[in-house]
Amino acid sequence: MEMARVIVDVPSKGTNRPFDYLIPESMRDWIEVGSRVGVPFGHRTVQGFVVSLHDKPEMDISKMKPIQELLDLVPPLPPDLVELASWMSEKYACHEMTALQAMIPSALKGKAERYVSVSEESDLDEEEESDLLLIPKTREEEQWERIIVGFIRQNGPVRMEQLSSRYPEQAGIIKSLIRRGVLQETQNIRDKVQKKTLKTVILNVSENETEQVLQSFSAKARRQKEVLQFLLEMNFPMTLKEVMSVLQVTAGTVKALEEKGYVKIEEVEVFRDPYKGRKFKPTSPLPLTKEQQTVFDSITRGLNTLNYGAYLLHGVTGSGKTEIYLQTIERCLSLGRQAIVMVPEISLTPQMVERFKGRFGSRVAVLHSRLSGGERYDEWRKIREGKVQVAIGARSAVFAPFTNLGLIIMDEEHETSYKQEESPKYHARDVAIKRAHQHGAVVILGSATPSLESYYAARSQSNSEFAPILLEMHSRALGSNLPEVHIIDMRNELRDGNRSMFSRKLHQGIAARLERGEQMVLLLNRRGYSTFVMCRTCGYVASCPECDISLTYHQKSNNMRCHYCGYAAPAPAICPDCGSEHIRYFGTGTQRVEEELAKLFPGIRVIRMDVDTTTEKGSHERLLNQFREKKADVLLGTQMVAKGLDFPDVTLVGVITADSALNLPDFRAAEKTFQLLTQVAGRAGRHHLPGEVFIQSYTPDHYSIIHASRHDYSNFVREELKHRMALSYPPYCRLILVTFSHEKLPLVVRMAENFSTELQAKARKLGWYGGLDRLTSAALEVLGPVASPIPRIKNRYRFQCMIKCRGDIDAVELTKQVASEIENSVHDAHFQISIDVDPQMLM
Ligand code: ADP
Ligand code: ZN
Ligand code: ZN
Repeated sequence: MEMARVIVDVPSKGTNRPFDYLIPESMRDWIEVGSRVGVPFGHRTVQGFVVSLHDKPEMDISKMKPIQELLDLVPPLPPDLVELASWMSEKYACHEMTALQAMIPSALKGKAERYVSVSEESDLDEEEESDLLLIPKTREEEQWERIIVGFIRQNGPVRMEQLSSRYPEQAGIIKSLIRRGVLQETQNIRDKVQKKTLKTVILNVSENETEQVLQSFSAKARRQKEVLQFLLEMNFPMTLKEVMSVLQVTAGTVKALEEKGYVKIEEVEVFRDPYKGRKFKPTSPLPLTKEQQTVFDSITRGLNTLNYGAYLLHGVTGSGKTEIYLQTIERCLSLGRQAIVMVPEISLTPQMVERFKGRFGSRVAVLHSRLSGGERYDEWRKIREGKVQVAIGARSAVFAPFTNLGLIIMDEEHETSYKQEESPKYHARDVAIKRAHQHGAVVILGSATPSLESYYAARSQSNSEFAPILLEMHSRALGSNLPEVHIIDMRNELRDGNRSMFSRKLHQGIAARLERGEQMVLLLNRRGYSTFVMCRTCGYVASCPECDISLTYHQKSNNMRCHYCGYAAPAPAICPDCGSEHIRYFGTGTQRVEEELAKLFPGIRVIRMDVDTTTEKGSHERLLNQFREKKADVLLGTQMVAKGLDFPDVTLVGVITADSALNLPDFRAAEKTFQLLTQVAGRAGRHHLPGEVFIQSYTPDHYSIIHASRHDYSNFVREELKHRMALSYPPYCRLILVTFSHEKLPLVVRMAENFSTELQAKARKLGWYGGLDRLTSAALEVLGPVASPIPRIKNRYRFQCMIKCRGDIDAVELTKQVASEIENSVHDAHFQISIDVDPQMLM
């Protein structure tokens, strides 16, 4: 192929399309779809991805520029991911480059660097060079020119920065050399992380020579002989370091062998393994329960067809979903295909990683967000190079570059962390389904509380793209009962004079567990407890000067920070408004609970797990291990303690306030509350000891709390769907959130209004507009504009429109079109319109 179409890394609207480049002769055999290249763009060199190859250029070849460099020998992206990026760019209204970038590790997001070399065309002999150099005026200048050209000749292309720091005062001379063509500037893309290599000793003696060679060593070279014998015995390359430490020899000894030609010492690429040295207890498949077997059979029937299939696995907490994942993966691997496992937040689920490593060992790559850039890159390369067959990670694991994907598992599929909140604003569930379609693979969505969208799609089989088959497991694998749940009306506590954050019943429950030596989990709904700075005299609350939200207090550094723009200030000792000293810093809610526990139950051992205690790498695992080793009575935390944990001796779960998230202006508030309560209640009594759950609430009659207390998913869904239908919310329609922002409020308001008017007019023309309440097959409705829930961020005002739509219409395309018209009418690069398709965060 002679030419390539390339998506370039230039973040602007006009560049969201492929550009044509010539493929130089020397690269013809190397460049493929998915190759990463450096190409000239304007006056720069930028990184790009090849998205297609062509023979017959549509444009005049003489105007086409050649690809400058090929960045990897193996393309980082297989063709199916390139196709997926194009699909994402349409579905989520994002730049194709943004989608491509989301698929590769950050280590490969190379930046162009400027190099200077001696011109090739002016590959002058000494004399000619002297002629050129004669042009300058003074002797001193001439000397400098010789020195600089000499330096570059000797060192090959030199980085611009290196040159300018070495000759800081000769900028004029260097520029003049470049202008006269003696030196030339080139640009190369440099990756952020280099592959790691180690000096490795490689045997260079053929088998039939060995005896002879070993005989040849003199007594003095005894050590050298030992090394050689050792290498012969090991029969695979050892690193120089290993050889030196195992045999207690010096590098000199090995070097001497190299000089004799018996070994070679080479830099060999190694993979950094973040789990190196860690032992995982190997496990073998468990005999399945009857319910598990039925589910397993359905899924494997799908797997065996090698065709697309999707399953929604609704199984109560502790029903043994993980064992099903493990065994279906085994089946998938035996078919010669690969598997992806997604978990909501991998740093919160060390137990999951352990179970997968335990079953599949080194066949698993872990794409952990807490890994360093280099470690992540290595795990990713193991996948790309076919060295592993299973990838486990958070939402971005859906892009694991396997080439023969057979299975994608999404555990806790209802979790909001599967939606990325910055561009590309994709939902990993939709991407998983698309990828599975591409590969003829099976998708398993697992949850004890499936999202309403998935459940509805399974029930109605309406959405043909997706339509998962519903599989249910109603009982726990170990035969234990679901725990008994008590709802406690906190209004009564207050009425009876109990001002503590613990109700009397929960208090008694904790005391009884302490006596019996059983463990407890206490959950605080994070969103309900603030960490702000407030004056008790005048009510002043410290807020960000740039954004309309209150600052968050951080105890460790005793300062206040804005979580939107990063603004930070020391916490004041007196109120800046009234001068009162009664200004309080409310520590994290969990801290307050911890203090209260210590007061009420002297000697109680508490492990606190929240943002403050889990900032360090590996801290989740450390805390959870301590708890498992019974070094504490109580595991206290925010949402993080609700997820996927399996502790045999937990017999009490307490929820401090169940309803703190219920009043948020989010149509998913009830669903989220139900999910959280069900998940956390599932932590109790999972094994042999029976469990008890205490839910404290100020609105104990709310249906989400009542149904959660009865472990009654289907009745909750029935009631919640009624509300969604009445108010036209998903799953009865799709949403697109459009946010407008700029420093000037009037401009934002005017443009948001123009957008709304224009979109409605266009939709009406297409026959789509008419309100969702009518039973039309295609409908679109625009709500707003209104001020965004956070009306100002980083000094930019924000307004939004919510678009509701239904039916087989391309509302995203129309939204994009109108947004682009509005943007073009403004002529101000600061004005921004952001589009969020299927938004999850409405706050
Ligand atoms: P879930 O993911 O559905 O909440 P888990 O997979 O964590 O449930 O299983 C709960 C417990 O049951 C675990 O301790 C697991 O080892 C055990 N378990 C699962 N399946 C079986 C089985 N077939 N036989 C015995 N124990 C099982
Ligand atoms: Zn005050
Ligand atoms: Zn701010």
